[in-house]
Parts: sequence; structure tokens; C-alpha cells
Amino acid sequence: MKHQLTIGWLYPELMSTYGDRGNIIVLTKRCKWRNINVSVLSIDFKTTKKEIESCDLVFGGGSQDRQQGIVIDDLRNNKGPVLKELFDRGIPGLFVCGAPQLLGHYYMTGDDTKLTGLGIFDMVSRHFGKSKPRCIGNTIGEIGEEFEVEGLDFRNTVVGFENHGGRTYLGKGVQPFAKIIKGCGNNGEDVTEGSVYKNCIACYSHGPFLPKNPHIADWLIAKALELKYKKKIPLKLLDDTLEWEAHEFMLER
Ligand code: GLN
Repeated sequence: MKHQLTIGWLYPELMSTYGDRGNIIVLTKRCKWRNINVSVLSIDFKTTKKEIESCDLVFGGGSQDRQQGIVIDDLRNNKGPVLKELFDRGIPGLFVCGAPQLLGHYYMTGDDTKLTGLGIFDMVSRHFGKSKPRCIGNTIGEIGEEFEVEGLDFRNTVVGFENHGGRTYLGKGVQPFAKIIKGCGNNGEDVTEGSVYKNCIACYSHGPFLPKNPHIADWLIAKALELKYKKKIPLKLLDDTLEWEAHEFMLER
């Protein structure tokens, strides 16, 4: 049987800074190399609840405050409940920078506008305007073994590139995605980077993230397949020599 996945992509026209669309390319390619069919659904203002319900995996990229202000009402009022239903069922997701800021309780923009978010991740974000510098640069984080996929290569590190003015603060019950070793991560204060809600990952890593972290791409694909087909679907090991070289180069830099 040929497996099939639908990847939902939140507002691709407005939310895809710093090469975030590369993550969609990676997910699509890695599925195709394994003979898994993929379709990508752009989730924008016109997308219906029924269409969103067909997603097996969801991606949301970064965007600046202005674009976040444009999408927030539609995201919260029209897409929020169905997305929450999906994530509560275990549908995996990856959300980078501007996207997770909108999936937390709220994001205070650089001009002090409060964007009330979806409250999926127990966290709040705030941009301190000119009073705190932007967090810009390469990042390294340390992750736990829960992201290991049986039979595939694993590293307990993730490498990325961050560029954000907002700082994120996690609620008490929420786990960070990684411990930040280099860079700012969520806020530059508590050594956390991103957060995890069920099978959804929030992080500040652009880069784009997945080309340099193939283990995370495969973890997302494995989770999506497992949920859809109600059993573990073994993933073929791919030749990731170049990907791991890029990963290791960033670790050594
Ligand atoms: N507007 C947000 C910030 O500056 C997100 C930026 C981004 O997605 N790169 O914090």
C-alpha cells in the first residue's frame, strides 16, 4: 500500500521568513524518497474547516509583527478550534518563530499591541521594542531521546538560525523543545528553546531548520504516519551525509 500525507502550511504568503519554506521542501522530498505521496495544503483566509481536518502534519513559519497582525483574527476565530482538535489528537506540527508566538496565549508586538493567540502552547511572548536587542545568530540546542525514531540516525542536538525581537516565556507545565547551548532561544534568560505540546514543536530556529536537522524532519513524518495508519510505519534510512555534515559544521563553528 502506498502511504499518503497531507501537510498543512499556515499562511504561506504571509508567514515564511528566512527560508522557512525550505522546511516544506524537506518534508515533501523525504516522503517522496520513501515512496510516500504528499500533498501540501496552503491554509489561508479561504481554507475551510473540512480541508484543515484532512491535514496529517502542520507547518507554520515566521513572520514580522505586521503580518502576524494581519493573520491573527482569522487564525484565532476561524482556524483555532479545528487546529486545536488536530493537535489534541496527536497530529504533529512544527512552528517557527512568528507562528508559535501566535499559538501561545498572547504576543505583545513591538508597538505594544496585544495579539491574543490560540493558547495551544502554554506560553506568552513579548517584544520589548528598542529596549532589548534583537536575538540574531546561529543557535545550538540539546534535545532529548524522545525525538529518536527507531532505525534512523539520531543526534541529541539541533542547529538553527534565530532572528526575533520577541521573547517567549513558558508556563509552569510546559516542556521546552531544547536546552539552548548557543544563542538566545526563547528569551536569553532561562536557557530554554521552544516548547512541545503533544506532537507539536515550537522553536525559534529558522535556517531553514529541517535541512540541517533531518532527525526532526523524520520524527514529524513518523508521527504523522503512525497517527494516520494507527501503527508504526518503518521509515527507510536515507543517505544524509550532506545533511549531517551541515549539522556538524554548525556545531563546530
Ligand atoms: N515578529 C516576531 C519577532 O520579531 C517574529 C519574527 C520572525 O518570525 N522572524 O519576534
